[in-house]
Amino acid sequence: MASLLWEIGESTVALVKGFAVTFKNMLRKTVTENYPHQPVNFQPRYRGIHVLQRDEDGLEKCVGCFLCAAACPANCIYIEAAENTDAERISAGERYAKVYNIDYSRCIFCGYCVEACPTDAITHGHGFELATYDINSLVYRKEQLLEKVGGEMPPGARS
Ligand code: SF4
Ligand code: SF4
Repeated sequence: MASLLWEIGESTVALVKGFAVTFKNMLRKTVTENYPHQPVNFQPRYRGIHVLQRDEDGLEKCVGCFLCAAACPANCIYIEAAENTDAERISAGERYAKVYNIDYSRCIFCGYCVEACPTDAITHGHGFELATYDINSLVYRKEQLLEKVGGEMPPGARS
């Protein structure tokens, strides 16, 4: 009998807790994004399409070290590095990424690449419109990911 009462008490407490959450959320303001008719509101930490950043001098921050590719669990970053020369300086380091591709058919937006980067060259933007009928177009190239000179975001990274 005592155990039955205990079970009834426990179930009642669980029900009250559950309904408390339900009623609390029923009274909250509804959050509905009217996409695509209105822009979507993102939390600052939202992990969208990547952006390859430039420094204050307009040079590419990426120094072609491959650490992001090594950290990527989906193996979706492809880099070809090249040496900077005095005649042609692309980044502030010894090397730069001549080719930098991210395959968004594999990317899981985990952010490991961003955490691994020693120069803060790669970040997540707020772009999310990746849907396509052509899987090949999900391989984004450096030109699509690189911040423009002057700070303008690349087209794919905009929200
Ligand atoms: S977000 Fe994750 S899966 Fe996507 S490129 Fe970076 S490390 Fe790879
Ligand atoms: S994005 Fe960062 S981690 Fe990746 S190659 Fe460039 S500098 Fe290295």
